[in-house]
Amino acid sequence: MSGTSNLWINEQLVEKIRRHGVEIYPNECCGALLGRDADAEAVPARAAREVLEVFQLVNRREDSPRNRFAVTAEDVRDADKAARAQGLDVIGWYHSHPDHPARPSECDREHGWPWYSYIIVSVQNGKAQDMTSWRLQDDRSAFLPEEMEIRNQAEA
Ligand SMILES: [Zn+2]
Repeated sequence: MSGTSNLWINEQLVEKIRRHGVEIYPNECCGALLGRDADAEAVPARAAREVLEVFQLVNRREDSPRNRFAVTAEDVRDADKAARAQGLDVIGWYHSHPDHPARPSECDREHGWPWYSYIIVSVQNGKAQDMTSWRLQDDRSAFLPEEMEIRNQAEA
């Protein structure tokens, strides 16, 4: 991966992620980002990557659901199935940070996978705040910020 990456998402999906974070607060919510990565399609007018649906997952970290989430092999299968049913791919994952900033934690880095987009929404006192997107570097040394472009459904 080189240069800055960007991610398109529409307002409705942003709202869905925010609502999920608020519902699950004070625990962390998590889910999959379904969409298309258009690098291979070489259409310059389109974003390289676009979220077209979100798929809610259950946070399986029963030991400390407030500050970690875990995506299991089963989650990946479920998300992949949901994506393919809609002609899409799993292009990333989202989760919330209850009462913490919308920045990847050390635990996120340890458990993250390169290539995918990671959207994080900060939920402070039960209210959704900042939302950011990140990609883990190929050597997994750090997350780099990814520009999120929030679009109206009508423009899509
Ligand atoms: Zn996190």
